[in-house]
Amino acid sequence: MLDRFNRKINYLRISVTDRCNLRCHYCMPENDPSLLRHEDILTFEEMQQVVAVAVALGVDKIRLTGGEPLVRRDIVELVSMIAAVPGLNDLSMTTNAMLLGRFAKALANAGLKRINISLDTIDPLKFKRITRGGDLQKVFDGIQAAREAGLRPIKVNCVVGNQPDVTDIKNVERYCHENGLHIRFIQQMDLQTGHFDIVKGGTGGDCKHCNRLRLTSDGKVKPCLFSDLSFDIRLLGIQKAMEMALDNKPEKGTVSLNNCFHNIGG
Ligand code: SAM
Ligand code: SF4
Repeated sequence: MLDRFNRKINYLRISVTDRCNLRCHYCMPENDPSLLRHEDILTFEEMQQVVAVAVALGVDKIRLTGGEPLVRRDIVELVSMIAAVPGLNDLSMTTNAMLLGRFAKALANAGLKRINISLDTIDPLKFKRITRGGDLQKVFDGIQAAREAGLRPIKVNCVVGNQPDVTDIKNVERYCHENGLHIRFIQQMDLQTGHFDIVKGGTGGDCKHCNRLRLTSDGKVKPCLFSDLSFDIRLLGIQKAMEMALDNKPEKGTVSLNNCFHNIGG
């Protein structure tokens, strides 16, 4: 499908939950993030229906994200339900990898093709500080499990702040190189001020070539990360919400005052 600016939209990112088992300082408040009510969160059947409609409209690439997708109960079943929709070329996930050691094999068997893992540092103490409690060894174990499960390529998302620690970046780069992982550097973004940049080594942040729509875990189709426009599939119906998101996709991102990374999915 083409939008008003002739961009071909073929990529849908689905936030399967707004919950997370970490609290990265650039993404989530430490205490009591305002979370969705369980009854407002889409069922697997609803998500599968959205994927079917999106594919009929021309989407062939799906990424599952969150919050942390692996904390959604029965996530493997959701992966197999989405993988079963005919016409998809690519099914991937972005995860913090805390639970990947446990799930990698089952995810691959369910039809997940590849995976992006968030990793900003390979210093265990720093990792704990950035994520407010994360265990770096679990990420390493998750990467190993993903490799053994045949998820390829494995990409690393490394968020870089305004005053980046060059040693940190070099160490992550070396780790990725030694382990055959692709690395993408993401400039830390701020939804409220509209601060974002093109992802180095990736495709995000480049409005001219943006090919994405997003689905929040409570069923809003969002045409742009940096906009508060959203179209509710439960109010409008899936087809209408997708079409309205397409028709209203802004030329460029500006700001989003109503959302946070953990509920849109980054
Ligand atoms: N929990 C999963 C994870 O961390 O990979 C998936 C959801 S997370 C919101 C998706 C991506 O957004 C992660 O790679 C994360 O580093 C990135 N992200 C979160 N907050 C960000 C921010 N303020 N600026 C840039 N990237 C951000
Ligand atoms: Fe959780 Fe991912 Fe946000 Fe970190 S970046 S708090 S892991 S959703």
